[in-house]
Amino acid sequence: MTGPVLVLIDHDRGVPAETAYQALTLARAVADGLGSATVEAVLIGQAAEPLAADVGARGAPTVRLVRHADLDDYAPEAWGDAFAAAARAAGAAAVVAVGTDRGNEVLAHVAAIEDLPFAANVTDIDVIEGTCTVTRVRWGGSLLEQATVEAPVLILSGAAHAFPAAAPAAGDTPAPAIEELTPELGPAAGRTRIVERETAADAGTSLTGAAVVVSGGRGVGSADGFAILEELAGLLGGAVGCSRVVTNNGWRPHSDQVGQTGKRIAPELYIACGISGAIQHWVGMMAAKRVLAINTDGDAPMVTKADYAVIGDLHVVLPAVIDELRRRRPDGAPAA
Ligand code: FAD
Repeated sequence: MTGPVLVLIDHDRGVPAETAYQALTLARAVADGLGSATVEAVLIGQAAEPLAADVGARGAPTVRLVRHADLDDYAPEAWGDAFAAAARAAGAAAVVAVGTDRGNEVLAHVAAIEDLPFAANVTDIDVIEGTCTVTRVRWGGSLLEQATVEAPVLILSGAAHAFPAAAPAAGDTPAPAIEELTPELGPAAGRTRIVERETAADAGTSLTGAAVVVSGGRGVGSADGFAILEELAGLLGGAVGCSRVVTNNGWRPHSDQVGQTGKRIAPELYIACGISGAIQHWVGMMAAKRVLAINTDGDAPMVTKADYAVIGDLHVVLPAVIDELRRRRPDGAPAA
């Protein structure tokens, strides 16, 4: 396998996704494993062009800019078609992305187009003499699978937050070589496309990027009960998350849900209020650096696995925490 490793840089109309540069670290690991392969980044859509220099500084000496009128906004079939075309043009040995909803969706289309296997949500990779062994997260995080991938082109996504984001190289770095490509898109390419966008009413600190997440479960008791979690999150400069029971009850939107069928996050501190810690929830926040559980049940899995726990009613504990924070920071400024 001598061709380059192509890496999809995920962006939304030119704004890189929070996980975008983790893909470069995975790509570097794959390239190192394959021996002679180099890393080339793929930027899909005209709006992504300004990212090229930054992507180059983070370890991609070649950037492939894929342009087409149907690629200016995200469209899964079209992006899959475009990424597959870029891979063919480059003679790629491997194509990779971060295993976000979008990254996995694009790679699934690439795999279907090329009729090749796709290993999703990889946490570790080992390539020895051309044989690629991957560790993958399966069954909502309750199982780690080791598998061997045999294919002329490796198609891999890295589990979100399993690989650190590639940092820009120190000092001046040469601008990346730019290769431009205008692919011919297949008839299905325009089938799914964005026709309208709505901005969330509260576009505060994003859940996936927040250093502190204050998350609530069934124990919060109601939609109104989240006011106190919002207040604490505001004081800590954090975001509010929730369990699936909460979204099922309509107390919070699905965009706030953490877990297997929600978001996967890696904050510095995760404060789980009235959440039992079911595996499907745990898999979404297990990358948190520290977990504080507030729960009436001392035997709840969230409590037994947490770094810190307060056994008590969240409706009593949270006001006390907020009072103490306000006492220590009377100006009410969020934590730095
Ligand atoms: P419960 O399990 O009912 O726990 C409530 C907790 O609150 C208990 O521990 C209780 O002791 C505590 N409590 C009650 N009152 C108070 C109080 N006043 N103060 C403090 N503590 C209190 N779940 C997710 O969260 N995210 C997912 O993405 C997800 N995906 C799933 C996918 C599949 C295929 C399936 C089958 C399930 C999925 N689930 C998911 C659901 C998951 O299995 C659990 O049912 C869910 O996480 C439980 O939510 P909870 O902890 O809020 O509620």
